[in-house]
Amino acid sequence: MNILVINCGSSSLKFQLIDSVAEEVLAKGLCERIGIEGSRLVYQPEGGEKEITEEPMPTHSKAVGMVLDALINEKTGVIGSLDEVGAVGHRIVHGGEKFASSTVITDEVIKAIEECNDLAPLHNPANLIGIEACKEHMPNTPMVGVFDTAFHQTMPEEAYIYGLPYEYYEKYKVRRYGFHGTSHSYVSKRVAEILNQPYESQKTIVCHIGNGASICAVNGGKSVDTSMGLTPLEGLIMGTRSGDIDPAIMEFIANKENMSVAEVMNVLNKKSGVYGISGTTSDFRDLMEAKEKGDKRAELALHVFIYRIIKYVGAYAAAMNGVDNIVFTAGIGENNAYVREKVCESLTYLGVSIDKDQNEKREDEMIISKDDSKVKVLVVATNEELKIARETLALVK
Ligand code: ADP
Repeated sequence: MNILVINCGSSSLKFQLIDSVAEEVLAKGLCERIGIEGSRLVYQPEGGEKEITEEPMPTHSKAVGMVLDALINEKTGVIGSLDEVGAVGHRIVHGGEKFASSTVITDEVIKAIEECNDLAPLHNPANLIGIEACKEHMPNTPMVGVFDTAFHQTMPEEAYIYGLPYEYYEKYKVRRYGFHGTSHSYVSKRVAEILNQPYESQKTIVCHIGNGASICAVNGGKSVDTSMGLTPLEGLIMGTRSGDIDPAIMEFIANKENMSVAEVMNVLNKKSGVYGISGTTSDFRDLMEAKEKGDKRAELALHVFIYRIIKYVGAYAAAMNGVDNIVFTAGIGENNAYVREKVCESLTYLGVSIDKDQNEKREDEMIISKDDSKVKVLVVATNEELKIARETLALVK
């Protein structure tokens, strides 16, 4: 069965058409600047050239229409008709406490997702627009929602309750939810497969470090703690997000800079992290280059970022009373050997010993610890789309 995987944002829409039996990508791409001037579709059939179509996309429905047209296009399409799309899998950011697993999308489910909107006001409404747009074009095709938060619903209370008045949890469901669950789940499972160990027996710390970054403690195949919280702002230092800070800083800065809460939030989300510290960039390629050229602020940003990861790995080894595997994934985790080396250098107390030559390689899946390292360290390329396709297939079969 071919499954169309959709990741819909407020002005963008990423897609992959996946043959879920062979687990092969047939075509992929994205629509950019939906609803804004200068919108375009980037479409790439497997093994073919990237094709860029610049055309106004005033709505997400128009964007989905263009994607579907590209998929069935006589010249560059990969399927004969839309009947060959067996199901659509939607990435949904926030499932609150309502969704502990993926689910077939019905009118009731759409309502339940809407009820989670105020937990993720930037993301969930856009995800819902994506669902509606697909329904318009493919009213009879089954659809599945796969939630970023679902994998973390196994966390114990002590990990998800904040030190706040308990009524806020009861009334507003203020608690830790965690994100990147699809990635943490996929990658931790791959680690067990690569090492040929039963998933249920392994204690694994997943470092998903991309522009957005989070760490997850996976004990016996279940998420038991994770660094992002009610929103993706908590935890690690990220490209532009602050991660953990003293909450009192908010009022302090609001007073000093004469800012509203919304303005301070904007700074914490968009102007902080390694971008804020370096003052120049959120991209780790630029950051590394600047450091090489002697830029002290870039170097500081890198080291603050790395130090926070080291602290979280230690915390999660403690939370699980031990750790068997540590795995790096996402843009930085998969590509930045310097970050991996610096993190691992500070984990020798856990029994981590990495092979520096192996760590310098770039492979989708590799073990970078030495054979005698007590804790195995790996790099595993994440594949959230494949995981969404698998979940979708399992539910519509
Ligand atoms: P997100 O999905 O959260 O937007 P990504 O997982 O794509 O983020 O990660 C983006 C980060 O990964 C950037 O800082 C970028 O510099 C880094 N990165 C991505 N690809 C490479 C690469 N080939 N080499 C070095 N760094 C990379």
